[in-house]
Amino acid sequence: MSTDISFAATCPDCADVDLAADQMWLVLADRPDLTHYAFVCPQCGRQVRHRANAATVAVLQCRVPVEALEVPAEALEVHAGAALTIDDLIDLMLALESDSEARPHDAVTTAGP
Ligand SMILES: [Zn+2]
Repeated sequence: MSTDISFAATCPDCADVDLAADQMWLVLADRPDLTHYAFVCPQCGRQVRHRANAATVAVLQCRVPVEALEVPAEALEVHAGAALTIDDLIDLMLALESDSEARPHDAVTTAGP
């Protein structure tokens, strides 16, 4: 890996910035659409990410630090419906308690001395 190479990149706040090879990194995800390169802008300190296509990966892969990213399947699940609220959780706890009261023989008991 060579560090005497510089790259021109774009920060949304500062426009074009020059970066040394060790100031940016490439994230190779197991899904190509999540592969990106990132850097901390030397002018404003913002962390910036840009999607990396195959040509960009080919240029950067041997020149900047590379991180492998395995995206867990749970992160890619599509969720439908409203998000759980604290009221939903309270209702669930009440339902579980009333269920265990209805079947006391299933309740966990501790034996006294
Ligand atoms: Zn910036």
